[in-house]
Amino acid sequence: MRTIHTDEIIKNIKEMCIEANLELSEDMKRKLKNAKEQETGRLGAQILNQLEENMGIAKEESIPICQDTGMAVVFFKIGQDVHIEGMNVTDAINEGVRQGYVEGYLRKSVVKDPIERENTKDNTPAVIHYDMIPGEQIEITVAPKGFGSENMSRVFMLKPADGLEGVKASVLQAVKDAGPNACPPMVVGVGMGGTFEKCAFLAKKALSRNTEEPSSIPYVAQLERELLEEINQLGIGPGGLGGNTTALAVNVETYPTHIAGLPLAVNICCHVNRHVSRTI
Ligand code: SF4
Repeated sequence: MRTIHTDEIIKNIKEMCIEANLELSEDMKRKLKNAKEQETGRLGAQILNQLEENMGIAKEESIPICQDTGMAVVFFKIGQDVHIEGMNVTDAINEGVRQGYVEGYLRKSVVKDPIERENTKDNTPAVIHYDMIPGEQIEITVAPKGFGSENMSRVFMLKPADGLEGVKASVLQAVKDAGPNACPPMVVGVGMGGTFEKCAFLAKKALSRNTEEPSSIPYVAQLERELLEEINQLGIGPGGLGGNTTALAVNVETYPTHIAGLPLAVNICCHVNRHVSRTI
């Protein structure tokens, strides 16, 4: 049994909120660089150049990559041999988010109530997904999610007979409908299986997977490749201004499901696909 104090959780979450908003992961940077080299659309290529320039400025001047610094999504995996000391864990995670967004001068985008819409002024609360894992560590991923692309995400409750063709048609429809509103080039997270809420969670989780690592399930890896190719034939392009880079990656996560259903979620992310992971 190992004891971890909530002060350590707060400190890490604070740093991760800032880090995630200032610099993309290495795989995302490489994806954007490769896209720039392969983009055939004139305007699309210009947009990719501007995105690269923007990322450089963000890094040099320690400012966010995008003005929309997102709602903080936190994946929090607790080792079953960890004893947490201090305050309530959910409060500690939110305190880390509060400190990160306030001290990091990140935009506060969260409202207290979906209808009354009063800003909480510190970007809390976060959306937290807890999980139990073996061991004496806590694995944390912080993924600030922009809402231009979040708003274009979809859940489809397909029938088993819809099969892979139904999945592909639905993902392509979601991307077509998203068009320029999702700030392309996008990363497309897909969740297949489970229940209504589980597939949405899987689609979100898919976005935080390394975009250079295909699924370990052969047919799913093939689906990811085919979807990426077909999405990039849609012609939406960077910024929605045409070109062959509509998506940088498609990540698909799966889970067992009920004999009567094929739940499918498509969580779209813009090119600012932010996520930082740490193990404490
Ligand atoms: S969707 Fe992404 S790129 Fe567009 S405004 Fe939001 S964070 Fe920025």
